Amino acid sequence: MNSRNSCAISAYRTHRLLNSAYKQRSRCHPRLIDLGVNPKILVSALSLSIAQRLVRKLCQFCKKEKIPSKEEEETIKLVMASIKDEGKSLSNYNIKEDAPIKLFTTVGCDKCNMTGFKGRIGIFEAIKTDDAIEKIMPENPSEHEIKKVARAQGILSMRQDGLVKMLTGITSFEEVQSVVDLNEE
Ligand SMILES: [Zn+2]
Repeated sequence: MNSRNSCAISAYRTHRLLNSAYKQRSRCHPRLIDLGVNPKILVSALSLSIAQRLVRKLCQFCKKEKIPSKEEEETIKLVMASIKDEGKSLSNYNIKEDAPIKLFTTVGCDKCNMTGFKGRIGIFEAIKTDDAIEKIMPENPSEHEIKKVARAQGILSMRQDGLVKMLTGITSFEEVQSVVDLNEE
């Protein structure tokens, strides 16, 4: 194991949250396995892994509502369907699933220096090391297999969290799409 891996593992051992802000689309469990970390060590060291991407927040003083394009609406419906299929609910986030879909977009005012954005927010996903994850980790699972097992935990995936943040007007469709592939499961 190289020093970079040992360092990551010792940070896990303190059971602090791992905050992964990698620019590339990777998740903590699969990424460390790719680096050659023994999955058995990972299981005993990790209690939770979190991945994060930053997006710009829309300026709350000037943002305006917009009707999604046909393409945007199709993508949104796809992500909504994945939430439903996985037994999660948007109503926990104050979003009515049967209401017409509204998005928000930038305008620009003196409060945001005419950029339309003010501040940043993370889009997250997390995987808990529960019994089901512990069970599959020694079998050297793929990223897809880990995510499939993790679905039962009920935590929103990154594209689902991005959907919540665009439908509640925190950020725009484009901002989410720029950091996470909304069409990819
Ligand atoms: Zn503004």
